[in-house]
Amino acid sequence: MALSVLLVDDSKFVRKGIAKELPTILDGKELIFSEASNGNEALELLYVNSYDIVFLDLTMPEKTGYDVLESLKERGIKANIVVLTADIQPESEKIVRSLGAIGYMEKQRPLNREALMKVLQETNIL
Ligand SMILES: [Mg+2]
Repeated sequence: MALSVLLVDDSKFVRKGIAKELPTILDGKELIFSEASNGNEALELLYVNSYDIVFLDLTMPEKTGYDVLESLKERGIKANIVVLTADIQPESEKIVRSLGAIGYMEKQRPLNREALMKVLQETNIL
């Protein structure tokens, strides 16, 4: 079965990095890849589609990743969300997990392939 992934990040650089790495990690598994560059676009997609995994940036203009998690929670929508963040505040992981995120990954430049694999293993995607 193909793996459906939604990647939400306002940084084109981050989106490109993950889009490039994912197929190499999935090792031949078919990938259906969607992208959103802000929280509003992400919610429009998440209200109507379901994904095997959603990578969600926290810091985005207008609607943040926290806002997206809150909106999904309010509507009772469950999504397999892994938060991506460059912000290493110790409280942020606790907050996003309480809002329903299933994983948490620190963003590094360049993208840390091992961290991406680890989070996919932890969330039983790999
Ligand atoms: Mg951002």
